[in-house]
This record gives sequence, structure tokens and C-alpha cells, in this order.
Amino acid sequence: MLSLSELPTCPGLFSGSRARDGVLSRMRIPGGILNVQQCWSIANFVDRYSSGCLQVTNRANLQIRELHSQIPPSIWQDLQKLGLASRRVEVDPIRNIMASPTAGIDRQNLLDTRPLVAAWDNYLQTHPELSELSAKFSIGFDGGELVSIRNFRNDILLVAKRRQPNSEIIFSLHFNGVDTGIIIEESQCILVLASLTSAYLEYTKNQPRINGKKPRLRHLLADWGTAKYLEKVEKKLPFALRQEAIELFLKDISNNSCGTGILPVTSAPNGNLGIHSQRQSGFSYIGIALPLGKLESNQLRNLASLAQNLGGSTLRLTPWQNLLISDIPNSQVFEVKQQIADLGLHSSATHLDSCLVACAGSSGCASAATDTQSHALAMVRDLAQKWTIDRSINIHFSGCEKSCAQHQPIDITLVGIQIQQKGETIAGYNIYAGRKDLPFGRQIFRAVSVAEMSSAIERMLRVYQRFREPRESFGQFCDRWAIDKLQKLLSPVTHN
Ligand code: SF4
Repeated sequence: MLSLSELPTCPGLFSGSRARDGVLSRMRIPGGILNVQQCWSIANFVDRYSSGCLQVTNRANLQIRELHSQIPPSIWQDLQKLGLASRRVEVDPIRNIMASPTAGIDRQNLLDTRPLVAAWDNYLQTHPELSELSAKFSIGFDGGELVSIRNFRNDILLVAKRRQPNSEIIFSLHFNGVDTGIIIEESQCILVLASLTSAYLEYTKNQPRINGKKPRLRHLLADWGTAKYLEKVEKKLPFALRQEAIELFLKDISNNSCGTGILPVTSAPNGNLGIHSQRQSGFSYIGIALPLGKLESNQLRNLASLAQNLGGSTLRLTPWQNLLISDIPNSQVFEVKQQIADLGLHSSATHLDSCLVACAGSSGCASAATDTQSHALAMVRDLAQKWTIDRSINIHFSGCEKSCAQHQPIDITLVGIQIQQKGETIAGYNIYAGRKDLPFGRQIFRAVSVAEMSSAIERMLRVYQRFREPRESFGQFCDRWAIDKLQKLLSPVTHN
């Protein structure tokens, strides 16, 4: 373990980063899938060596707060044996491999990506030279699932698709959300990823740091262009890369020289919550909401037991900071739902705490103007006591304008600011809504103090619930009004 003064900014399990409440560590869970033995071991580990609280991150890692600095080597070795810590310490901080949490069980699944996730993880763990990669370098696999991860930004994403006319399933290669036009067979994926990673690593070694950090893949693409990068990659491969839809490819490149385009949304946010039938006939999975990804060790322990007794003996962490229990016989689904409720959890997609996103805020980030996580949780708890909403509303708290935590379409965004009020500096938020083409939507209210925030949001949601058209989403409702009329409508007046 490093000393406090040597702590990095991107944490791994062996080397935490400094947060306001102590050392924060991150357990990399490839594809987000944990077996029950791993869950019990994690629960015991955090009870013994930390505050006992866990948080699922937006890469389906598990974050541990207040981890003790003195942990016996035998404990690390036990975690390594269980596959919860990298076999080689130096590659542990590499970003988690992302995959759909419904890989292999999704009704729309074209290809089960779990073996690819395991193979790529094994590659990372057996190539210590990859510890030199930027800690932000990220890879994802999308098997064509309904619960899609395509809205999450990965440097490299492989997306399964069915190719006509012979219905062959192949992967298309995406850089930063843009389809390159390159298609890859399943058996070629690891080799291509290895070559892509190696060429990128060579580039970063020969380039100066940018604001003290290693260049990202987007910097390579802006510097070399996609064609030159692929040329270098191809030289490392025993086969030629196949390109399809060259016109589309060229259009993408000219529109997105830095690779900044984003794929269209293919699944609804929170679409993984609740009960869903699986591709395996007679079985279902349940998506369980974890407000801001937070989970107590005892909940983890009991959910694992539930998965062992009535499900497929795994928990699947999601990049939406929730988790799934899969492979539940349909006859047991309501029993599982009841036991989830007994643990103080729920699976409703319309509960306000299911749709909440917050960045680290002032407890973990020096740029934050506000304590986003505490404010977000306090607000939804307050609102939940007063009434329930019948539609899923996505609310996003950001501690500053960088908006690190936003990876999905959002209905309402609150951006933290410091407000001067009666000679004092207090925490507050600017509140935005609708217009998904704007970074946060249109600004509805400026400088709302934390004390007033809950009633401002309550008003917005009540007005929407009362005046919306049938089937109109919150965003559509906001967008049909001119901004001055919308502000007036949502302001604190009585609507008769
Ligand atoms: S959005 Fe701002 S405050 Fe929040 S984690 Fe990112 S940089 Fe920090």
C-alpha cells in the first residue's frame, strides 16, 4: 500500500485515492458480475477493514470508503485468489471493462459477451506493461442487448450486430462513440484489442503529458486521425482489418475529427429496473435500485444469499449504479421481490431515488461547489415522504459545470454553486430542465439554496403531473413551453 502522500487520483484496490472522509479504493469487477462467494468475501472485508459501506460506480466497479491503511498481505492474497483483486498489482488501476449487465440473458442479446470480457481481463492481467496506460483508457463490449451500454463513453467499444444477407454476427469497432466502419469477427476481438491498445500505448509513451496527464485516445485520434491509427494497428495483426460502409465511415470521421459523436440511445434509462423475462424461457431477472449506488455490507450479504437460494448465484452490478439478480424461476419472482423489500430496497423504476445521478461532489472532488451526494439523497428522501410520481424522472446533481456523472438523458439537472445570501456564503444550485440537445437543458431557476431546493423540484414535478399531455415525458412537457412561460408555470404560485 502506498503512503498517503503518494496516493493517486484514480484509485485501484491496492492504491486508494484521498477523499474528504479518508482513503477511497475501487474494486474492479469486469463486466460487473460477482458470484456469491465473492459477495460474501467483500462484505466481510469491508466490515473488517472499512466503514462497511460500498458504492457501485458508473463503470460497475465497487467503491470502498475509509479503507484502513494496514491490511495484512494474506488478505490481499485471498482477494486475488477469489478474482477480486488483479493477479498483478501494477495493472489493478486499469479501468474496469464495461459490458451490458444483461449479457447472456437479455431477450435481444445477439451474442453473449461474458467470455470476451473474461478473455480481455485475462489479457490485461498477463501484460504488466499495460500498467503504463492512461488510467482513463476504457474498453466496452455491447452484445446488442436491450439494456445497452452504448450511451456510456468508452474509448473503444465493440458492438455486436447482425450482418446481412447471411445473418452473421460480427462486431463493429467504435472509438469514443463513433463507428469506424471496421468489422471484426468474434474470434479476432482480443487480438484486435491488443493491437489497438499497444499502438495507443506506444503513442502515449512518445508524447508529452497534457495538463500533467497521459494523452487520451481522443488526443491520438485528433493528432493522427483514425486512418493512420488503424494503419499502425493493422501492421501488428496477422490479418487485414475489414471495413464496411466506407461512405458512412468517412462521414463520421469528417464530422468528428476528435471522435466526439455519440451513438443514438438504444435503451431507456432505468430500463434494467423491475422484473424482466430472460431469453431463457421460464426465467426472469430483477433490477434492484440502489440510490446513488450505495449498498451496506449486510445488504450485499443478504442479496447474495437470495441469489444463491432463488436465482443464478450471481449479482450483476450495472453502470447505472444498480444491481440485478438473474435466473430466477418465474414461480419465485414475487418471493424474491418480497425479500428485496425486507432488506429495505426496491425495484421500482419510477421511484425518485431510482433515477438519481450525482457526481462525487465535495466529499470526493476538489472542484465541487456542493456536497451533491448528500443533497441528492436528502432531497429524494424528503420528496418520497410526501408523494409518489408515476413516471421515471432522471435527476442529476453536478458539483460543477464539468458534469462528470452524466451518461444518460437527463430530465432535471442541478449544478452546484456558492450563493451570497445576507453576507454569508451558502451552497445552492442552478436548476435546468428539458432540451436534451443542451448540456444541461434550459435554465429554469438560478441560485436556489439547498433549503429551497426540495420544494422547487417538488413544484416542478407536481406541475408536470398535473398539466402534462397523455404520454408526454417530463422533457417533452418542458420543451413545449417558451422559457418565460415555463419559468412562470414552475414558479411558486397556486395553480387553480
Ligand atoms: S462534476 Fe465537477 S464537482 Fe463533480 S466530480 Fe466532476 S469535476 Fe468534480
